Order: sequence, then C-alpha cells, then structure tokens
Amino acid sequence: MAEIVSIANQKGGVGKTTTSINLAYALATLGQEVLLVDFDPQGNASSGIGINLKDGEKSVYHLLTKTAKVEEVLKRTSNEMLDILPACKDLAGAEVELVNIEGRENMLTQALAPLQNMYKYIIIDCPPSLSLLTLNAMVASNSVITPIQCEYYAMEGLAHFINTASKIKQVLNPKLNIDGGLLTMYDSRMNLSNQVLEEINKFYGDRVYKTPIPRNIRLAEAPSFGQSIFDYDPACRGAAAYLDLAKEFLTRRGVDAATLKEVKIPT
Ligand code: ADP
Ligand code: MG
Repeated sequence: MAEIVSIANQKGGVGKTTTSINLAYALATLGQEVLLVDFDPQGNASSGIGINLKDGEKSVYHLLTKTAKVEEVLKRTSNEMLDILPACKDLAGAEVELVNIEGRENMLTQALAPLQNMYKYIIIDCPPSLSLLTLNAMVASNSVITPIQCEYYAMEGLAHFINTASKIKQVLNPKLNIDGGLLTMYDSRMNLSNQVLEEINKFYGDRVYKTPIPRNIRLAEAPSFGQSIFDYDPACRGAAAYLDLAKEFLTRRGVDAATLKEVKIPT
C-alpha cells in the first residue's frame, strides 16, 4: 500500500510545487514507484513536469467527481518510475460542486484507493489555501510535509499549519502523521536564513527535515522548460538538495539506504 504524502502550506510561493515535483522525481530516481498528484487548479505541478492538458482532456477533477476512469487521467513522465494525475483549472469548480455532497472531504481518498497498490509513495501537491481541496488531500494522506520559506514569519506560519493539521488529525484523519517542516529557499549567506534555520531547529527538532533546500536559480528556471531539476540540471545544488531530501525522507521511513538505486550526480 502506498504511503500518501501531502505537501501543504496555506501560503503560496513557499516551494510546495517545486518540492512535490522534485521530491517525487528524486524518489523515483532512487528506485521507488511514485505517483505525483497535482491537486492545485493552477496546474503548476503538471506543466512543471511537462504535462499540458489540452481542452477536453481528463484531469484529476474528473477522478474526484467520478466522471473519468483512472486510465483516462493517469499520465507517464520522463521517469518510468513516476506517473502523474494532472490538474487544470476545472479543479477550482470542484470546490463549489462538492460542497453539498455528503462525505465531501473523502472524495480524494476514494479516488486514490484503486491506485494505492500500484505505488510506494503518492505525493500530493496542495493548493495555497486551507480549502476543501486541501482538506481532501489531508484526509487522504498518511503524512504531511510543510515547506516553509526561510523568512521572518516562518515560525508563525509553521505553528499555524501544525495547529490546523492537528485538528484535522483529531477530527477527520487519526492516521495523519505530521511529518514535519521543510525549509526552502535557504541562503546560507543571509543572517535571516540562518536565524530562521536555527530557531526552527531549536523549536521543532525532529519535526523539521535536516536537509534545507537552498535558494537556487536553476530550481526556479526548470518549470518553464517543463522539466524536473534532474532533467534540467542534474549537477546543480538544487538537484543535490532534493536528492538528499529524498534520502532523508526514506531513512525516516526505515528504508535501508543500501537497497536504494545508486544515483550518480554529474559534475
Ligand atoms: P508554491 O507551490 O508553494 O506556491 P512554488 O514551488 O511554485 O511555491 O515556488 C514559488 C516560486 O519560487 C516559483 O517561481 C519557484 O520556481 C520558485 N522557487 C521555489 N523553490 C525555489 C528555490 N529553492 N530556489 C529558487 N527559487 C525557488
Ligand atoms: Mg504550487
């Protein structure tokens, strides 16, 4: 059974999509079967990995509303171990359409159920809000990772998110593991970045991933080419960081590093 992992934070621009794409891709590179679920109507995870849906093509919206079969929506990526359920603007409509349906927070859980035995990990890129979509993602998930930008309000943002996730765990999904925060856009030359890193580590300890993701221009460029960082520039610092993150992710889950596929980083 796949572990379902939400990448979520109510704030936009903190690196959710960048993390979803590149963590999913890195895990696939290490030999894990992975499904990336684009669950943001903006569809950035889809376009960022080279999937641009044409008018009329089925998306995750159709799975959610039970108007398409899995095989009509599922797409392959450039990595044979990584598939994607793409999204497009339609998904915004689901918010409104599902509002009066009983069990509206369980729609994604149901949509993913038949896919769970096909993958090791299912990574969900959440929209930047605490909407019904994010709620669906958190209810479907076994764990949640929260990217946090290294900035002044980072602590507050993380505290707020952990609080919300705890409530969801209490009321709707007792199996939800609040896996932790992930620092993104870290710049070791900036005092502020280092202060935030130190504070967050001090306060949250094991609840923060030890691998911060550096601010790296290549990570910002890759999506416009529809490529993960591992296709766009596998030798850059951003790629090395996401590979380290994937290894930390697996180690936290008790996966023996010796069983992983060897990845050579070009120099
Ligand atoms: P979110 O999904 O949380 O809104 P994104 O992943 O789309 O955030 O990131 C917001 C912007 O910052 C994007 O333009 C992205 O390319 C850029 N970005 C994300 N992570 C990094 C990073 N580590 N270094 C530089 N730019 C980044
Ligand atoms: Mg995003």
